[in-house]
Amino acid sequence: MRDRAADRHTRTKIIATLGPASATRERLAQMLDIGLDVCRLNFSHGDFAEHKRTLDLVRTLAAERDEPVCVIGDLCGPKIRLGQFGSEPVVVKTGDAVRFVRGDGPCDAQRLTVSLASFVEEVEPGQRIYIDDGLVRLSARERRGDELVCEVVVGGELHSHKGVNLPDTHLAAPALTDKDRHDLAWAIAQGLDYVALSFVRRPEDLYELKRLIKEQGSDLPVIIKIEKTEALDHLDELIAHADAVLVARGDLGVEADLWRVPLMQKDIVARCQRIGVPVIVATQMLQSMVASPMPTRAEVSDVANAVFDRVDAVMLSGETAVGQFPVESVDMMNRIVAATGEYIVQRPARAVSAGIAVHYSPPAAVAHAAVQAAVDLGVQLVAVWSATGATVRLVARHRLPMPVVGLTYDERVYRRMNLLFGVVPVRVEPLDNPAAMAEALDALLVQRGLAAEGDLVVVVTSTKPTTPGATDTALVRRVGSDTASAC
Ligand code: PEP
Repeated sequence: MRDRAADRHTRTKIIATLGPASATRERLAQMLDIGLDVCRLNFSHGDFAEHKRTLDLVRTLAAERDEPVCVIGDLCGPKIRLGQFGSEPVVVKTGDAVRFVRGDGPCDAQRLTVSLASFVEEVEPGQRIYIDDGLVRLSARERRGDELVCEVVVGGELHSHKGVNLPDTHLAAPALTDKDRHDLAWAIAQGLDYVALSFVRRPEDLYELKRLIKEQGSDLPVIIKIEKTEALDHLDELIAHADAVLVARGDLGVEADLWRVPLMQKDIVARCQRIGVPVIVATQMLQSMVASPMPTRAEVSDVANAVFDRVDAVMLSGETAVGQFPVESVDMMNRIVAATGEYIVQRPARAVSAGIAVHYSPPAAVAHAAVQAAVDLGVQLVAVWSATGATVRLVARHRLPMPVVGLTYDERVYRRMNLLFGVVPVRVEPLDNPAAMAEALDALLVQRGLAAEGDLVVVVTSTKPTTPGATDTALVRRVGSDTASAC
C-alpha cells in the first residue's frame, strides 16, 4: 500500500466506473488501496438493488480505511438505443436500405426500432445516423409515411440495444427522462456525492436538474458531461453554472469529428480552469486494458497529457466496469498519475493568478493572498477550514505544488472534496475559536504525517468558522508555534 498522506497531494484524482468486474469486496479493496479516489455508478446499467450493493460496499470499505471515497451517480440522459433483434448479430452492407419504424417491436436487417418515440419525425432526410459508436453509419434518405428510409453508408454488425447518435439532429426530447428522475431521487436518498448529467445541450437542461434537486431539499452537486456539439455552443454559460465538468470523449467522438476531440478537450479544460470549475477527462483512457494487462504507449501518453494539463480527475470506464484487468488498470493509472504529477510539481510554479479570470469575492481574494504567500515561501501545505468546500475550491483551482488540506466537519463536504486536484480532505470536529483550531490543526497535521513540528504552513480560515461564505483570514505560521503573520 502506498503512503497516501505523503503523495496524494501531487495528484490528479482517479475515478473508476464500478460494474461486474470491480464491485466485489476483494477487487474494490485492492483498487482503493492502490489509490482510487472516486467511484462512479453508471445508471445506464444495472438496477437499484445492484447499485445499492455496490454503494454499501464502497461506504463500508471507505469507513474501514477512514478515507473520503466519493461516489458519483451518472444519469443516462436521453441516450437513444436500438430495439431487440430476434437473432443477432445482423449484418448490414454498404448501399443497403434500412427503415426505422415507430414503436418498440423487434428489429431485423431491414426494419429497425429505437427507444426514442419521435425518432421518425425528428430525423430529417440528409442527416447522419451513427450506430454503435459510429461503427455502422446510415444516412436518412426520405420519410415515407410512418417510416424513415435510410441508406447504409458504412456497413457492419448490428446488435440489440446499441447506442444511436444523431450528430446533425437537434432533438426536442427533454434532457431528463423519467428514468433519470427516478435515478436522481435514488441518488439523493442514498446520499451520493455528485450526480452527472449526460447529453446536456443547453443551460436550461442544467437549470432543470438543479431545480429538481432543490425541490427535493438537496444540494447535490452536478457534473455536466460534455458529449453533444450543441453543448459546445453554450459552453461558457454551462461551465459557469456547473459544479464540475466531464469531457465525455466517448459520445463526443461520435457526435463531433473524432480528430477534433483533442482540441475540444484542451478548450473545455482551459475554460473550466479559467474560472476555477473542477474538470474531469474520461473515456477510453486505458481502453486496451479491457482485454490486456498492459495499455498501449499512446494510452499512457493520453493519461499523462491530462495530468500535464492539471485536470482534477481522470476516469476509467469499461476498463474497471467490465474489463478483465480492473485492478491492473487502476494500478497503471495511479503509476502514470504519480510519475507525471511528480514531474509537474518540480516545474516552476505558475504565476498564481495566471489564467484565473474570475470576479473577486472577499473569500476568493483571501484565497488568492494565501496562495501567493504559499508559493513565495514554499510552505509545506495550505490548510483550509471550510464549511461548504467553497473555499477549498477557491484555493485548489490555483493548482499549487504543495497539498491543500481541506478541513471540514461536514461528512458530505469531506467526500465531495476528494474530486479536487491536490486536495487532502480531513474531517474535524466543529470548532469556533482560533486558538483551539490552531492546536487541533497542528495535532492532526503531525499525526497524519502531512507536516512536522516547525514546518511553515499557510492557513485559510475565518473569524466566524461555522458560518458558510465567511472566509476572511489567511495566516502564515509554523506548526507548533502560537504566533502567526497575516498574509
Ligand atoms: C462518454 O460518452 O464518454 C461517457 C463518459 O459517457 P458514458 O460512459 O455514459 O457513455
